Amino acid sequence: MKPATNIARARELAQRLAEVRGRMALACARCGRAADSVRLVAVSKFHPASDILALAAAGQREFGESYVQEALAKQDALVGQDILWHFVGGLQTKKARAVAGRFVLVHSLDSEKLARELARRAADAGVLQPVLLEVNIGQEEQKSGVDETELTEFAELVLSLHEDGLGLDLQGLMCLPPDFDAPEAARPFFAHLRELRDGLESSLGVRLPQLSMGMTGDFEAAIEEGATIIRVGTSIFGPRPPKA
Ligand SMILES: *Cc1c(COP(=O)(O)O)cnc(C)c1O
Repeated sequence: MKPATNIARARELAQRLAEVRGRMALACARCGRAADSVRLVAVSKFHPASDILALAAAGQREFGESYVQEALAKQDALVGQDILWHFVGGLQTKKARAVAGRFVLVHSLDSEKLARELARRAADAGVLQPVLLEVNIGQEEQKSGVDETELTEFAELVLSLHEDGLGLDLQGLMCLPPDFDAPEAARPFFAHLRELRDGLESSLGVRLPQLSMGMTGDFEAAIEEGATIIRVGTSIFGPRPPKA
C-alpha cells in the first residue's frame, strides 16, 4: 500500500522544495557554476514516508537518511518509486551489512574497521559501494569523522578496498562543520574541505569529484565553496518531529 498523502502537506513540501531549488540556482549563478553541478539530497530523517512520496511527486529524487532501521523501513514502504537513497548518518560497523548495496552513496565512512567491514559486505552483496570519507573538519572532540592528519592514510586504505569490481568506490569527502549561527562562520571549513580534497587528488593521483557539504543553515556558502552535494532537511520538511 502506498503511504497516504495529505494534499495540504504535499503542497507545502512542493513549495519549500521549489524555494530551496531557487536558492541553489541563485548561489550557483553568484559563483558562475552550472545549476546542475550541485545535487540536492533531501534529508528525511524522522519524517514519514508520505512526505518523501509527496516530494518525489514534485520531482525530488535523492533522499538522505541517518538511521539504518528507519531508512530500510522507508525503502520498503516506497519500493518501486524512482528514489535514490543516501546514507548520511553515523554508521556502526555491525550495521554495515544492512547498508551495503542499498544506498547510492554512504557519506560517513570514518574508520578503518568500518571501511573493511563495508567493503567485505559490499563484495558479499556483489556490489561496488560508492562512499565518501567524513572529515572532522572542526577538529571537535565530540564529532565523528577522521582527523585531517590521518586522511591521506585512510584514503589510501579505502582506495585499496576493492577487488574484481567489488568493494568500495571512493568518490570524495563529506563534513559537518561546527555549529554556528552564521553561514559565514562555516565557509572557511567548506573551503578547507575542498583544499583537502584537492590535496588528496594530487598526492594520490585519483579523482575525488564529490564534496558533500552544506545543510539548511549554510548550503549557499557551501555551494560557493564547491559543494557538489548539499544535504538539506529543515528547509524542505520544516522542523523535525522528535525521534519515534
Ligand atoms: C540531519 C542532517 C542533515 C540535515 O540538517 P538540516 O539542518 O535539517 O538541513 C544534514 N546532514 C546530516 C549528516 C544530518 O544528520
